Amino acid sequence: MKTSEWSFRPVVSVALFCVALVILSGCSSASPLTEMPFPAPVDLAPGEKLRVVATTSIVRDVAANVGRDLIDLALLIPTGTDPHSFEPIPQDVAAVADAHVLLANGVGLEGFLEPLLESAGASRRVVELSTGIRLLDAGENRDQPAEGEPHHPDMDPHTWTDPNNVMVWVENTERTLSTLDPRNAEAYRANAQAYRAQLDELDRWVRDQVARIPVEQRLLVTDHLVFGYLARQYGFTQVGAIIPAYTSLAQPSAKELAELEEAIRDAGVKAVFVGHTVNPNLADTVARDTGTQLVLLYTGSLTENGGDADTYLDYVRYNVSAIVAALK
Ligand SMILES: [Zn+2]
Repeated sequence: MKTSEWSFRPVVSVALFCVALVILSGCSSASPLTEMPFPAPVDLAPGEKLRVVATTSIVRDVAANVGRDLIDLALLIPTGTDPHSFEPIPQDVAAVADAHVLLANGVGLEGFLEPLLESAGASRRVVELSTGIRLLDAGENRDQPAEGEPHHPDMDPHTWTDPNNVMVWVENTERTLSTLDPRNAEAYRANAQAYRAQLDELDRWVRDQVARIPVEQRLLVTDHLVFGYLARQYGFTQVGAIIPAYTSLAQPSAKELAELEEAIRDAGVKAVFVGHTVNPNLADTVARDTGTQLVLLYTGSLTENGGDADTYLDYVRYNVSAIVAALK
């Protein structure tokens, strides 16, 4: 039996939602979303399932592995959408208002979340799965914080690029589901344990693959600074990015692009990696200018079912295989 799809009634009018969003965007200095990491148990009627909303397709895949058919799981940011540029629609407010809990990546990735939660009246039902992960700072690589990114503006939000961090997500997901729905705690624990074993195997596989790349060629240039956690875990150096920021929304200056091309030539970088959800034009120009290969990867989203990366495990396998093929 598969997890049932969850449909929502558009109970909030467009006009009302827009007004609320505009008003609330103006005062986004509210308390952090992590205020209540593991909410109290929910009163579920007999046969009623826990209703969970996941922000990204990667969060949803992790939640599906832990919750399986014991939860009703919905997705907020549609598959194939860049999470940095996502803007919620009124149906999303209804979805969040109806959910028992919303699972998010956190670390400021979901800049839209706070006004959305305020509109839905559900501001205390969010669990940020990256809670507990040792975060990377922006350091000097960061442009001005993007509009609508009130949380952790100087931290790298792309925690999922390291499977070891996703093991933390699994832990947080299991604790959340078990706390909200203690009757199924045993099953959540068993599911989480089985999935963690697969992540553990994935981590060993990534290590074996990366070992095939000569150490001096483990150099990453990407469309924005997306693979910091992968780099930290498996010994890559991030030489630079087309957009030298933790978001895909900024624009590089001509000077920054010239400096990047110089860094690529100096370091002998072999490839420029671009996410499927962003415009590849600038990266293509940089690759041509420097005589390097342009390689497409999956970054902020999985693929639709049947695609190359329709699970998190396949997402990592696809990306690492492509990186190894380009750099070895
Ligand atoms: Zn990103």
